[in-house]
Amino acid sequence: MSNMKNEEFIDFRSDTVTKPTPEMLEAIKHAKLGDDVYCEDPTVNELQEMAAEKMGKEAALLVTSGTQANLVSLMTNCNRGQLVFLESESHIYWYEVGGISAVASVLPWPIKSFDGTISPDQLEAAIRPKNIHFPEPALICVEDTHNRYGGIITTPKQLAALSEAAKNHSLKLYIDGARIFNAAVGLNVDVREFTKHVDNLMFCLSKGLSCPIGSLLVGTTEFIEKARKNRKILGGGMRQAGIIAAPGIVALQKMVHRLKEDHENAWLIAEKVAKIPGIKLDLARVQTNIVAFDIENTGATDDLFLAKLKEDGILALAQSNHRIRLVTHYGITKKDSQKTAAAIEAILEKLTAK
Ligand SMILES: *Cc1c(COP(=O)(O)O)cnc(C)c1O
Repeated sequence: MSNMKNEEFIDFRSDTVTKPTPEMLEAIKHAKLGDDVYCEDPTVNELQEMAAEKMGKEAALLVTSGTQANLVSLMTNCNRGQLVFLESESHIYWYEVGGISAVASVLPWPIKSFDGTISPDQLEAAIRPKNIHFPEPALICVEDTHNRYGGIITTPKQLAALSEAAKNHSLKLYIDGARIFNAAVGLNVDVREFTKHVDNLMFCLSKGLSCPIGSLLVGTTEFIEKARKNRKILGGGMRQAGIIAAPGIVALQKMVHRLKEDHENAWLIAEKVAKIPGIKLDLARVQTNIVAFDIENTGATDDLFLAKLKEDGILALAQSNHRIRLVTHYGITKKDSQKTAAAIEAILEKLTAK
């Protein structure tokens, strides 16, 4: 097995490992190009218009990554020194190298939640009265779906309630929607049911939508104009970026509805794994394309479990101690998922039989 190449593995580490589809590669080859810093790349312009329309907003901006989208959003929604409410295990807080402080110069104010979703009551409890000593709150970020909580959806209904609370305190509401289409497909509703409740949001092309590069920031024309300047500050002004935008157009047309398959595969694995003795897996939390479970009570260590999986040609990762995460995506079939569920069962049976 040690001579196996990466592409021969069934790779559940993330939906970021997805490769462009043949149609995307064709689209790249034929993309009409221009200089996007001058707003003259027709393919970028087309993608941005398409993204804005899909999200029911005025305008959109192509950025290099989800991390850059979040950073540009923080810089655009807030002034330096202002306060941003976010969930305590959110991607912005955990995985973006502290850019929120180091670059955007705003104060993250984490709200601890039960399942990755923030309720209006939790927000209200975190808001302090106006006082000369306190930083001025400007924004609340919601992560939908929530990565570290295993792809949990904040529903349109929850967003509506949160939006009302945010408005009462003159806060802007933003979605880190790296996987917002998984949320929409998961609930089988139009993505606008989510986006209509927020001021602005981002989504990733490079995750379940299978593009090689890119995310889109979406909001009002005024917001996007300001965001364009902030993207430039970060060195994110790109030239013939139609190369990146062309597969994005294919993704929005062809790759959204198929996310359902990923959810079905995740569910297939989760249902089987949940039955294994010692495994802690809450099926109510398997809502989209992520399966996360705790192996502590099986007695197996993360390293050994992952090594055994790898011997079977399967890659996954440990998200924290004893917590294993599998992400389904384009390229992982039903058969792969069945094989994986069986492999997990067999490995744990062997590891726990003393
Ligand atoms: C992946 C992810 C990001 C960051 O995207 P990159 O393109 O990897 O920078 C942001 N937020 C969430 C919720 C994510 O899952």
